[in-house]
Amino acid sequence: MLLASETLDGLPAPVPLATGAARSPESCPALVLNADFRPLSYFPLSVWSWQDAIKAVFQDRVNIVSEYDRVVRSPTCAMRLPSVISLKTFVKPARQPAFTRFNVFLRDRFRCQYCGASQDLTFDHLIPRSRGGRTTWTNVVTACSPCNLKKGGHLPSQCGMTPARRPMQPTVQELHNNGRLFPQNYLHESWQDYLYWDSELEP
Ligand SMILES: [Zn+2]
Repeated sequence: MLLASETLDGLPAPVPLATGAARSPESCPALVLNADFRPLSYFPLSVWSWQDAIKAVFQDRVNIVSEYDRVVRSPTCAMRLPSVISLKTFVKPARQPAFTRFNVFLRDRFRCQYCGASQDLTFDHLIPRSRGGRTTWTNVVTACSPCNLKKGGHLPSQCGMTPARRPMQPTVQELHNNGRLFPQNYLHESWQDYLYWDSELEP
């Protein structure tokens, strides 16, 4: 089973600004596509380090779809780092999105569910943990710090604070739709052709 590299909150580290051949190899991650040329995963985006990508190339597990200008050399060979690779064997995509901090924010469109603020965001447990509330899709909402503080250990009914939308587990499609509203700014240009190509065309 192939898994994308784990990253904090499902976000790859920001890519430094160096471009072209001067990029450090560390700023050359590879976008990983499934055998059908869709990203293996969107949230988190399936991205491998250059080392993992090259290893997979030599193990004949992936095809190189696109490359960076950056070349790495060993005593016996030189190769351009892959920027997009596709798996040779189709992996069944996960049907349910991962329960991550990033995906909760994305479900709630990066808005406090109490006042609509988009700054200083954190998480609120509808039923506070001190009262047995669990950390689940249906009990965690995006909240700004002031609202989070105000609500404190109260139940929604006690403090009159109810979220704009009842929290549910989102579908992968819902996260895709919201993801298009919040384009990720660290993408290499060679990745663009493979992201959201399945989005519906505007009439
Ligand atoms: Zn708020």
